[in-house]
Amino acid sequence: MGRNLILEQIKEVKVIRCTGESCGRIFSEDDLEGLNFTGFKCPDCHGKVIVESKVDSEIVKDLEKAERLPLIEKAELNILIELNSQKTYVVAKDIAEEVDMNSRRIAKICKKLDQEKGLVIRDTQVNPYKYAITEQGRKYCVFRES
Ligand SMILES: [Zn+2]
Repeated sequence: MGRNLILEQIKEVKVIRCTGESCGRIFSEDDLEGLNFTGFKCPDCHGKVIVESKVDSEIVKDLEKAERLPLIEKAELNILIELNSQKTYVVAKDIAEEVDMNSRRIAKICKKLDQEKGLVIRDTQVNPYKYAITEQGRKYCVFRES
């Protein structure tokens, strides 16, 4: 399940290129209007210009890394993403609205993410407990950063 969530987060990269054999010119998004006007004919070689979508090679590398991580549930991922955006330790109440869960549920999930998966650090010296993400936890958030 975690893997599918990560796949959904992959940004699609559009490549606009000429299929002319000796040309292969790459166009930018700004050229689309002009290309529409000329029926997607390359101004250099009159070859056919196509729009391809592909996954950026950097993202693929990140994905390979991510696939070696243990799978997590959607609620867990939402909490990790929220903790990843915080600069310091936060209490459950601070992120409750963003992740659409109550403090008790967040506390329960964070306990599991700490004790069973090592993805969250809990400061249990304070009341209420405070939470932060671990380096391992950050690996689940790579696709949201770019
Ligand atoms: Zn061309």
